[in-house]
Amino acid sequence: MAASVAAPLDRFTLPDAGGHFGRYGGVFVPETLMTALHDLGGAYDAARQDPAFLTELRHHLKEFAGRPTELYFAERLTRYCGGAKIYLKREDLLHTGAHKINNALGQALLARRMGKKRIIAETGAGQHGVATAAVCAKFGLECVVYMGAVDMERQALNVFRMRLMGAEVRGVEAGQKTLKEAINEAMRDWVTNVRGTHYILGSALGSHPYPMMVRDFHRVIGQEVKEQILAREGRLPDEMIACVGGGSNAIGFFFEFLEESKVRLVGVEAGGRGIRRGDHAARFEGGKLGVLQGCKTYILQDDDGQIELTHSVSAGLDYAAIGPEHAFYRDRQRIDYAYACDDEVMEAFQLCSRMEGIIPALESTHALVHGMKRAKEMRSDEVLIINLSGRGDKDVNQVAKILGVKLG
Ligand SMILES: *Cc1c(COP(=O)(O)O)cnc(C)c1O
Repeated sequence: MAASVAAPLDRFTLPDAGGHFGRYGGVFVPETLMTALHDLGGAYDAARQDPAFLTELRHHLKEFAGRPTELYFAERLTRYCGGAKIYLKREDLLHTGAHKINNALGQALLARRMGKKRIIAETGAGQHGVATAAVCAKFGLECVVYMGAVDMERQALNVFRMRLMGAEVRGVEAGQKTLKEAINEAMRDWVTNVRGTHYILGSALGSHPYPMMVRDFHRVIGQEVKEQILAREGRLPDEMIACVGGGSNAIGFFFEFLEESKVRLVGVEAGGRGIRRGDHAARFEGGKLGVLQGCKTYILQDDDGQIELTHSVSAGLDYAAIGPEHAFYRDRQRIDYAYACDDEVMEAFQLCSRMEGIIPALESTHALVHGMKRAKEMRSDEVLIINLSGRGDKDVNQVAKILGVKLG
């Protein structure tokens, strides 16, 4: 597994002023957005050093989102695997059902501070859209969410949730009518309305300062884990595992541990139906360096640079690019990457539900699959923590369909 790093990692100086994590990241946007990104970077830089901003954010994370979340000992799963002690970080207990609210709250407060009263966002499965709609309702901000037409149909319930909370959901009919097209449309809106509008991007992706800023808003996950595991076990864990779509829950979970070289960190991508072109979304299995939607990173693309089709049973991991910071730490051999396939995910989804009384999000279940494999290989005096990034309520219709169960 992970080799310890050769040189100390300067995690607090990353990214550089241009938003680069080594050769990854950066800013690749139309001219009209350069000023907006520059202003956003400046505003965020001031906010992150302002105790009043941090205090207010902490307050809302507690009262609105429900932090801190529990670090839960999964006793029956541990016994079933027969190896390392398995803990679950319960981000599934947060308001709106996943870690995404951490970032949505942070960015909404930042938008308010910048005097922007209109919020736009993209969403795939709808989780980020729901989190954004919730914080906009709370702070009285206008909210427009772009969503691919295909995703709107698949996730009709989340569309209704967003609308209940006062958001306008705009369907996108271009291309594959999914997440990538929704991001394009959100960018187009931002270019046109940049003056009074803030774009709440939903993962550790896109142009600087987004990957850094989104990471920072999720760092609270790892900070809590560190305190909680020290209180529970009197020591740090041996291994930590999280699923990686764009990479926000994983980087927030890992960040506090990057310099703890004895703690192995593993990100799990979507292996879909298997690692064949068009059947998966594991960017580190067959992806190449390229630029997509504002950022240089690993991307699933063909030899002409055309973005390949991706597939995963979980919509939240189904994206052709991975956050640039992950590519950087992979090169440095500080974070390892694995993948889990749809059929293993379906099995673990049911197992966790039955054994722990916790229905995990299909995204998070990718981390569970790999975590259970690892636990079996580890000793019973070792400790493994899996980030349960979200709850599976949103997935039950889809799972029922796959299992051939007719509801209602
Ligand atoms: C959106 C989502 C993900 C994937 O996004 P990351 O930015 O990689 O964290 C993972 N889990 C859940 C529950 C999600 O909603």
